[in-house]
Amino acid sequence: MSPAEEHGSGEHGPDQRTSGEQWSQRYARAVMNTFGPPQRALVRGRGTRVWDADGREYLDLLAGIAVNCLGHAHPAILQAVTDQLATLGHVSNFFTTPAQVRLAERLAAIVFPEERAGSEPAGQSGAGGRVRVFLANSGTEANEAAFKIARRHGGARRPRILALEQAFHGRTMGALALTHKSAYRDPFEPLPGGVEFLPAGDTRALERAMGPDVAALFIEPIQGEAGVRELGEDYLRAARELTRSAGALLICDEVQTGMGRTGAWMAHHLLAPGVVPDVVTLAKGLGGGIPIGALVARGRAAELLGPGQHGTTFGGNPVASAAALAVIETIGEPGLLDRVRRLGDQWARELAQLPQVAQVRGRGLLLGVGLSPDAPPAAQLASALLERGFIVNAPGSDTIRLAPPLILTSQEASSFTGALAQVLAERSNP
Ligand SMILES: *Cc1c(COP(=O)(O)O)cnc(C)c1O
Repeated sequence: MSPAEEHGSGEHGPDQRTSGEQWSQRYARAVMNTFGPPQRALVRGRGTRVWDADGREYLDLLAGIAVNCLGHAHPAILQAVTDQLATLGHVSNFFTTPAQVRLAERLAAIVFPEERAGSEPAGQSGAGGRVRVFLANSGTEANEAAFKIARRHGGARRPRILALEQAFHGRTMGALALTHKSAYRDPFEPLPGGVEFLPAGDTRALERAMGPDVAALFIEPIQGEAGVRELGEDYLRAARELTRSAGALLICDEVQTGMGRTGAWMAHHLLAPGVVPDVVTLAKGLGGGIPIGALVARGRAAELLGPGQHGTTFGGNPVASAAALAVIETIGEPGLLDRVRRLGDQWARELAQLPQVAQVRGRGLLLGVGLSPDAPPAAQLASALLERGFIVNAPGSDTIRLAPPLILTSQEASSFTGALAQVLAERSNP
């Protein structure tokens, strides 16, 4: 079939005529097998819903893994991207654009609301005032930049970098060195050295490991890939105090938890108010579906990468920046974040009532439904739910992860609770 025919200009009509099965076969022949077989071929999305090549509709409760925060085909993103692309699509970092500068200013203000964006250094403390942003294209790249900042901060005197067990920071070599799972790491050894893993949430272990030879501590305030596991407020406060007194950087990976996902701009704002990291990394929801990542740093950490020490061709691209600005503007509309928090609380309570649900973890619209030991494996439940028209995922054998668009309605949330109850009941009866 020629591309013209596939796109509907030929007599064979639009590409809905190619079935999901046919797309899967072509996928297997053309796309590298790094993800396993795709569950469905999706052809269209609107709001909280997507449709597959066979015309079936799904409620999208995963949102491209916490990415489509405004759902599919949101008019604000569509308008921003279209306008920017029609005006100026790409310039490289030999130049800047209004979209790039505005986005950096907005990110500084939402990540570090207590600092004054774009202001000059606040004197001796070194901590006040100076916030700087590096724009990248993904979460792993934002963390690569953070890794480089940690190395620059560490030099020869601070060779150690601390990260947490079950941490996920990405798949490129530096970010992978910070990622705990051996199945992801082992085939690619040797990875950049100096990284040590500590049990997540264990303040004693952190106290013992911290010292003047530590450059940085990397944390996710809620470990998403680990099954939505939150670090406690006490741990986050201890992490800040211990890094501060050892002279190490606190680097907070909010790639999954940031941008309103938890009902606050940043999860650490919600979990430990007043705890201010040195570096925050973002991606996923930031572009609402357009690829973009960002690193936001303050104080000395904002000055550690100088000219020539880091770069990217696409990072700061005006189209991606315009999408992120539209996302920020929409999430910032009065009431939206409160609603995310309230809906998440209500939904978590509802889900926790179900038999075979042991606990519901997470905040806002990042929830991990923890199954009890007698429940079927989470992956099995996820496929049964897909059959019923609900997209979720299973980050572990006993957890279903929900990370829907932030525009989800409470009726939609409840429809999932009902479907999960049914699927659990069906699979538990002898
Ligand atoms: C998804 C994720 C990453 C990696 O982001 P990519 O855009 O896939 O490279 C890093 N950190 C966390 C916490 C994530 O959830």
